[in-house]
Amino acid sequence: MEKVETAQNAQYYIELENKYGAHNYHPLPVVLDRGEGPFVWDVEGKQYFDFLSAYSAVNQGHCHPKIIQALKDQAEQLTLTSRAFYNSILGEYEKFASDFFGYDKLLPMNSGVEAIETAVKLARKWGYERKHIPANEAKIIVCENNFHGRTTTIISFSSDPDSRQNFGPYTRGFVRIPYDDLDALREALSDDQVAAFLVEPIQGEAGVMVPGDGYLSESYKLCKEHNVLFIADEVQTGIARTGKLLACDYEGVKPDILVLGKALSGGVYPVSAVLADDSIMGVIHPGQHGSTFGGNPVAAAVAIAALKVIEDEELADNALKLGKKFRKELGKMVDKYELLSLVRGKGLLNALVVNDSPHSTTAWDLCMDLAENGLLAKPTHGNIIRFAPPLVISEEQLLEGIEIIRRTVSEFVRKH
Ligand code: PLP
Repeated sequence: MEKVETAQNAQYYIELENKYGAHNYHPLPVVLDRGEGPFVWDVEGKQYFDFLSAYSAVNQGHCHPKIIQALKDQAEQLTLTSRAFYNSILGEYEKFASDFFGYDKLLPMNSGVEAIETAVKLARKWGYERKHIPANEAKIIVCENNFHGRTTTIISFSSDPDSRQNFGPYTRGFVRIPYDDLDALREALSDDQVAAFLVEPIQGEAGVMVPGDGYLSESYKLCKEHNVLFIADEVQTGIARTGKLLACDYEGVKPDILVLGKALSGGVYPVSAVLADDSIMGVIHPGQHGSTFGGNPVAAAVAIAALKVIEDEELADNALKLGKKFRKELGKMVDKYELLSLVRGKGLLNALVVNDSPHSTTAWDLCMDLAENGLLAKPTHGNIIRFAPPLVISEEQLLEGIEIIRRTVSEFVRKH
């Protein structure tokens, strides 16, 4: 379809989405048309720093040439066979990614939530067949304020009213405990019908909530003591975002089940995966789980390329180094302006908390001004702004982004 090259360009696209698309999102009124590295451009040609990175999917930067090349090459050769047959790249990908993350096996899916669903099924089946939990009684411990996606089972254990309300009846078999609370975990684990503990190493959607040091390693240890699987949802935190390949690496924890998505494809294609060793993955047999597109040749080629970029360009190290710089500079703004209460995060997954009620529009208004000044970010939970630029960003570019934030905050304070 031809683009409408008029001054109303942006409005045209916004109205189109509003009229024909379900209103399940509330985007900032910016219409993006092109991306490269840490930048995106809108339909009127205005350039922005992308400090959201499609919720950490675009860690490798927009349209990374090596990932795009892999996509093009594979798309011209073979795109989809279904899993009714073997293909010449899936095994290569499964080996590459299993070695990369240190597991025996990988189960390929597409979206993050599908991979979480997969982990839930895997844990339950392991619970019945290996831990001998009585039929239909397996429980999975989850945390308050979790975000693991939007399917019916996954929202069944959400504590967010928007995610849950009027979507019942809910799937049972989940026990919710406070996040970053080892006593609560200890108590929940005393039930011997528990098969697994599902946790985000940092709660991204909840506002980049970083648990206390030792939480992950202690949780893992407690799970081992109770013969319970430790499942890490690293869909948002994984693949170099927090300054290590996985956020669990900070505490030397190797999850029993690792769930990945988003940056597994560098934002080029929906690719997600569940990784585990044979003692766990071995409970799944033909016909018990699957997906027409899961592990398709294009996904496999794209994921190999995306992981190679992470390694070759040392993106975890860049995230670690620039993340410290980012928090230091934003910390100075927090000290200076009463408008801001704190900055927190790890690597290049950070949040700035605005000193106002979660029901105020302050964070939204700030994001609108940031966009005006050439930087895109989005509030989460009302008064929290997440900043997560692509990990290919250079120090100079990051400093430019920080300067935009500084100027925007200072103008905002002057105006209000
Ligand atoms: N898990 C976490 C931690 C996430 O942040 C998300 C998405 O934001 C998901 C799961 C769901 O991923 P998807 O939107 O690809 O289904």
